[in-house]
Amino acid sequence: MRIARDLPNLRHALDGLGPVALVPTMGALHPGHLSLLAAARREVGEAGTLIASIFVNPLQFGPGEDFSRYPRQEEADLAMLREAGCDLAWLPGVEAMYPPGRATTIQVDGPSEGWEGAARPRHFRGVATVCAKLFLQTGARVAAFGEKDWQQLQVIRRMVRDLDLPVRILPCPTLREADGLAMSSRNRYLDPEARGRAAALPGAMRAAIEAMARGTPPAAALATARAGLAAAGFALDYLALVEPESLRELEAPPGRLIAAARLGGVRLLDNMAA
Ligand code: AMP
Repeated sequence: MRIARDLPNLRHALDGLGPVALVPTMGALHPGHLSLLAAARREVGEAGTLIASIFVNPLQFGPGEDFSRYPRQEEADLAMLREAGCDLAWLPGVEAMYPPGRATTIQVDGPSEGWEGAARPRHFRGVATVCAKLFLQTGARVAAFGEKDWQQLQVIRRMVRDLDLPVRILPCPTLREADGLAMSSRNRYLDPEARGRAAALPGAMRAAIEAMARGTPPAAALATARAGLAAAGFALDYLALVEPESLRELEAPPGRLIAAARLGGVRLLDNMAA
């Protein structure tokens, strides 16, 4: 596996290689990331080039968020990438990604409004900007993204369509722990007691979806879920049924049930088809 840390090295490494499939990450890799690598590999085959990027993107963190304490474990991540058959690890430093004087960001309206966009005001601008740069830097034909970050996936798809970027976005299903908690690099912040309770979030979401399917009015099903989560010690930022692409709130299924909740100082995100 080649490793590139700046653009000249990346371009050199890419010279003469086959079509690129890209998996953008912030590192602290877990099986969810590896499932994206496997899906990306299937898209380009053995003749293609599988690239994983690891970049903790300062532009997508707000003041007071966890940028400085976000888990960084380069050696372990590189070992996992080698094991997963990655051809090239793209590990730009902040200076390589954002040279001094940079003045351009990408603002995607529509799907970035509300929910995570409201809770983290400049977050999606940072995500869109870094992903556009990663697509252009690597010349990726296909890029894999997790459904775990549903709103992010819709923002990226909208950007790719609006800017005619020559990359196909490959959505990949959410990988979960045995108790149903969606895998996330931030789960390691949960202390054992909070970790023990965390799966109540997907549990309440699934119960609400089943209740709606049985005919319970959506407002009542969501109110029950919200009350249950509050009683279990979650501080809910939102639990909402939305139209899957626009993220506009819906009165009734079918749609996507999206949630963000804080538990023991950790912000958990989840979403499911509803
Ligand atoms: P991150 O490193 O958290 O920025 O995530 C990098 C990519 O992995 C994003 O496309 C995420 O949506 C995806 N991802 C994160 N967690 C999971 C998961 N549990 N299952 C599938 N994909 C995931």
